[in-house]
Amino acid sequence: MISIAGRSVLITGGGRGIGAAAAFALAEAGASVALAARNEQQVVDVAAQLRDRGHTAFAFRCDVTDKRQVRDLALSAREAMGKVDILVNNAGTVTSNPLGRIKLTEWNHIMAVNATGTFLCTQAVYDGMVEQKWGRIVNVASIAGLEGGRYIAAYTAAKHAVIGLTRAVAAEAAGTGVTVNAVCPGYVDTPLTDETIARIMRRTGKSWHEATHSILEGAGQPRLIRAEEVAEAILNLCVESASDTNGQFVILDGKDTP
Ligand code: NAD
Repeated sequence: MISIAGRSVLITGGGRGIGAAAAFALAEAGASVALAARNEQQVVDVAAQLRDRGHTAFAFRCDVTDKRQVRDLALSAREAMGKVDILVNNAGTVTSNPLGRIKLTEWNHIMAVNATGTFLCTQAVYDGMVEQKWGRIVNVASIAGLEGGRYIAAYTAAKHAVIGLTRAVAAEAAGTGVTVNAVCPGYVDTPLTDETIARIMRRTGKSWHEATHSILEGAGQPRLIRAEEVAEAILNLCVESASDTNGQFVILDGKDTP
């Protein structure tokens, strides 16, 4: 059983999907967990489920694109747990459109949530981690952070930015006791993917099966990845023995190369 007992974790977008799965995995490994999301009810519910299982959990409303809300979140998490040892930058969103139909507002929103949100949250906790000489930052990027995909130009650009930020902050953090890494899943079975499949069905008239098959074309395995698999990869980057893994990305796509 992997242990991160005594560690305090902040997870953005922790109300459902990968963020909620990461909350359960990290709490079950012994950490206290603070969950943040734009949708407060979702994080309140997940935190209550964690407490029902005997874990220490807190919930906060925060839009990661808003610098003041992120600063307040970092303060509240520190107040609740005494410190933030681990940050999981998971909040993210996606739209799909051919390049010509991407509106500037859509581009800006996708960049703001995925890339700017990751930057703001990292900035809000980084100095505290360096001061305490221990920290783990895990960014939930995507296969789209490493390669191009059709109809997701804004998301692809934003996730490439997340990978670039991961590498840059990892270089700054080297030798401080803080590590910065990313996980890069293919399509995961979450509400976000449900929305993507529903959008394809609406636009193309495809069945659920056909739409799911179409997003898995080019994936390394003919199935959606489970959120728990991504959560386990996140946990593995947070353990004591991962202290020399820095500036790396873990691909969960079943393929041998990106
Ligand atoms: P999801 O939509 O199921 O959950 C996203 C969570 O993020 C929700 O709790 C939501 O409230 C929160 N959120 C969204 N915008 C926010 C904002 N501005 N501020 C704070 N919270 C916000 O998504 P998911 O599928 O679990 O994805 C989680 C992460 O994993 C995202 O970064 C996503 O890009 C990435 N990812 C997902 C997949 C996939 O196939 N689902 C694949 C690769 C990477």
